Amino acid sequence: MPSTDRLKGKTALITGGASGIGAACADLFAQQGANVAVADIDLAAAASVAFAIRGDHGTSATSLELDVTDRMRCFAAVQAVVSEYGALDVLVNSAGVSPRAAPQSWDFEQIWDWVISINLKGSMMMSRAAVEQMQKQGAGSIVNLASIIGLVGYAEGMSDGFNPYPHSKGGIVQMTRDMGVAMAKSGIRVNALCPGFTYSNLTKSLTDQPDMLAKLESLHPMGRLGQPREVAYAALYLASDESSFVTGSCLTVDGGYTSQ
Ligand code: NAD
Repeated sequence: MPSTDRLKGKTALITGGASGIGAACADLFAQQGANVAVADIDLAAAASVAFAIRGDHGTSATSLELDVTDRMRCFAAVQAVVSEYGALDVLVNSAGVSPRAAPQSWDFEQIWDWVISINLKGSMMMSRAAVEQMQKQGAGSIVNLASIIGLVGYAEGMSDGFNPYPHSKGGIVQMTRDMGVAMAKSGIRVNALCPGFTYSNLTKSLTDQPDMLAKLESLHPMGRLGQPREVAYAALYLASDESSFVTGSCLTVDGGYTSQ
């Protein structure tokens, strides 16, 4: 029998929980006994993920409207979770965007600010709000979504060097290490995942192009892209007490991409 209690009694807040990796984390965490708060800028999609979780797992799942660039809303989201469940044990910072989704009319500086404000500043802001609560509890686990592209540069021809996505993900890697060390004695652990290219709405415009998909597959030694659930299993490990001696670490989930 597979276990179903790896997060029993815990409460997790998942930003970007309406889609892709965040939605997979919400589903898996709920399956493992956690109360989950699915927070996203897209409230309708977050509500539908929470609804499906309640139906599939019978656990408690709520949805929250959250823009991670809005400081007040970040703190309000944590308060809402604590009011509902009495604690916040796990934060997954999965809200993120790619410059591919920016309006065509924006210039490079607007796009850079937009990506950095959601991916990097948003993760910092949510962590700050969560840490305030976790300090009161004397425990907590934060899981950041960095990327392989936070560890290495893009493959040749995929970036002009001014792409804010790797800049934001490299910042998350370093933020994770610094917070991990700073909070190591407080009972709060801070870790990051560095996924390879993974099927989701974020990468759909790439994976829908057969030539680009073949190129991306060939960049991964396993010869394929990842599935959100495969990343969620790594998040589950970092979120749970099974990783009690792990902090400040960046775990690759990349089919061998960064080992080449
Ligand atoms: P996704 O597009 O499927 O999901 C991202 C979610 O973030 C969406 O639901 C979106 O509405 C939400 N979001 C966007 N802006 C927001 C904001 N300001 N406030 C709150 N929510 C907001 O993407 P995904 O592939 O699941 O990516 C999740 C995380 O993993 C991102 O940080 C991404 O950079 C990272 N990541 C993805 C891949 C990949 O290949 N898919 C690889 C490495 C890292």
